[in-house]
Amino acid sequence: GPEPDDAVTAPLPPISFELFPPRTDAAAIALGRTIDRLADVDPAFISVTFGAGGSSRDRSLTVLRYMLEHTRVEPMAHLTCVGSSHAEANRLVREFLDAGVTSFLALRGDPPAGAADADDAIGDLRSAAELVQLIHRVQEEREPFGQSRIPGIPGATAIGARPRPERVAVAAFPTGHPRSRGTSQDVDVLLAKEIAGATLAITQLFWHADDYLGFVQRARAGGVGIPILPGIMPVTNPARLSRLEQLTGVPAPASLSIGLEIEPDADEQFAIGVEYASNLSAEVLAGGAPGLHLYTFNRHEAVLAVLGRLDRADDPAPVPARIPAPTPATAGT
Ligand code: FAD
Repeated sequence: GPEPDDAVTAPLPPISFELFPPRTDAAAIALGRTIDRLADVDPAFISVTFGAGGSSRDRSLTVLRYMLEHTRVEPMAHLTCVGSSHAEANRLVREFLDAGVTSFLALRGDPPAGAADADDAIGDLRSAAELVQLIHRVQEEREPFGQSRIPGIPGATAIGARPRPERVAVAAFPTGHPRSRGTSQDVDVLLAKEIAGATLAITQLFWHADDYLGFVQRARAGGVGIPILPGIMPVTNPARLSRLEQLTGVPAPASLSIGLEIEPDADEQFAIGVEYASNLSAEVLAGGAPGLHLYTFNRHEAVLAVLGRLDRADDPAPVPARIPAPTPATAGT
């Protein structure tokens, strides 16, 4: 009979993941293993966050280089423009292109606490849309049409060259950006980013499928045509959930926060967070989401468990819910 399988096998929609650059050597080693596990499910891309102001530039690049050197996964670099001059933003984009990264998530980033939008702290680029434009310009200057392609074969790349996806993604806010004046502004800002050349939107996390589906509907009505990937995070402990609420300004549903709060057992908390995220994922996919962008918090267990549950959702005889088996510990780890 069919063997029970830990791996995600049934066709799933395109999956992508988000990581943040590790702060210590030990965390960097652990993250390498996490990336290897995430790469096993063949994600469309893995994105790496960027500290506004450039504080994490080198550490972000290290993670992106690891992906280029050790996996076949498309690395996507988050970049922020807040506080930088045109010249600095140009240099930054070039540096990532030179490292071999050709997909970006273009963000404005947040000015330092206390700075008003009119302050110098904002820099030359006033919005993510301007960074999108700049990324396209730098890429065009660097690779004039025809270069690095096989002559005579339109669209073909040189043999052995990495595929050149050149995605330029942007952020979208289903429940509104904290500074937004209203829901129509969030659609207008997204449309401006698409007009500037964005090819994909990734949403801030949200807790109800209707938040995402309603936003997509408003965006389509407002003229937005690019795919809008739902950003979903399995949150498996109450402390992280309340921190996230502070960071994003998006209140979590009471059922989830109370559920995590009253559950003393870490394994049970894990199961609660995974179940919430997989139900939410199933609902947005049923509503037409073009894929799933999973926030990993630099751990593979919870996001792979979400995918495992989704994978088995249509199974006529589901095997008991299982967390994908951890990598066997190797000597010295
Ligand atoms: P923008 O699209 O420029 O918009 C920001 C807000 O400014 C708008 O909502 C609007 O209110 C206002 N605005 C913009 N343009 C105009 C205009 N023309 N007229 C009037 N108002 C305007 N931050 C990081 O520092 N590093 C990261 O790696 C990072 N990754 C993220 C990933 C995702 C998926 C998301 C959703 C957010 C991420 N952020 C990150 C946070 C992001 O930098 C902040 O939310 C920031 O406040 C807004 O960035 P933005 O790219 O949406 O900006």
